[in-house]
Amino acid sequence: MSAKIIDGKQVSTEVRERVADQVAEFIASGGHQPVLATVLVGDDPASHVYVANKIKACEAVGIGSVHHELPAETSQDDLLTLVRALGDDDGVDGILVQLPPPDHIDPDAVIAAIDPAKDVDGLTATSAGLLVGGRPGLVSCTPAGVIELLDHAGTELEGAEAVIVGRSNLVGKPLISLLLARNATVTAAHSRTRDLPAVCRRADVLIAAVGVPELLGAEHVKPGATVIDVGINRTDDGLKGDVDFEAVSEIAGAITPVPGGVGPMTIAMLMVNTLAAAKSRSKQS
Ligand code: NDP
Repeated sequence: MSAKIIDGKQVSTEVRERVADQVAEFIASGGHQPVLATVLVGDDPASHVYVANKIKACEAVGIGSVHHELPAETSQDDLLTLVRALGDDDGVDGILVQLPPPDHIDPDAVIAAIDPAKDVDGLTATSAGLLVGGRPGLVSCTPAGVIELLDHAGTELEGAEAVIVGRSNLVGKPLISLLLARNATVTAAHSRTRDLPAVCRRADVLIAAVGVPELLGAEHVKPGATVIDVGINRTDDGLKGDVDFEAVSEIAGAITPVPGGVGPMTIAMLMVNTLAAAKSRSKQS
């Protein structure tokens, strides 16, 4: 193996420590304790684990949390009423509704009900619009975590060729704006891209956010490129990324592992966003 491993666990620990210090400073200078409201509908075991980890992360950095757990049969109207009430609640800085909700609830309607000032997942149309417009706002956590990892790895983004494979609203599209804001030359590839290996081989920075285990192999990677693997795919052989780690780590200059790469960054960036929302609300009040 020749690639340097970008250690998401270590970087996420550093980010959380930084947030803990900043929360303490904010409170010491007269600010209120930031509070994250989490909302979980139904019994999905993975969602329960994700929310529990988010609440634990809040405790560790000094952010308060209030948790709302609703039965699977909760109506969409009742959920929207709760989400709007959290928007009106002065004691709440961030709102996180764990997605996906049960099938009878439209996730877009839930996202639309979130107060953009408290949109710590960066999912509302307002947050997306601010990001595309290059204006300050809350950025969705996984793409923000990717940028944090690239910065930590010392990857030069200015003028670099960046190729993102995947154009989802959650990951690919925010990354287009974030990388453009850093003056990278950005290409977004997707399922209709012709000759994906050739497009990917142009990349100094290659980001995979596809959801297909080990789709990107050695033939997709320019020697020395930085490769960020967002993919989390459960397979019979365990958790796999979208990148064939073994083959690509022989060629890349730096690479994130799965697990232990982008994954741990998502919760760390949620903490960053919750503090940012608290600071911005306290300025406005
Ligand atoms: P989506 O399914 O929403 O989007 C997948 C994208 O990949 C689409 O744009 C699709 O193209 C493209 N795609 C699919 N197949 C191919 C292919 N064969 N060649 C090229 N492009 C292809 O996924 P998400 O963005 O939500 O998630 C992507 C991955 O990241 C998943 O593994 C997910 O689990 C993981 N993830 C990890 C997170 C973390 O915390 N680390 C957080 C969020 C996601 P098209 O648009 O044409 O259909």
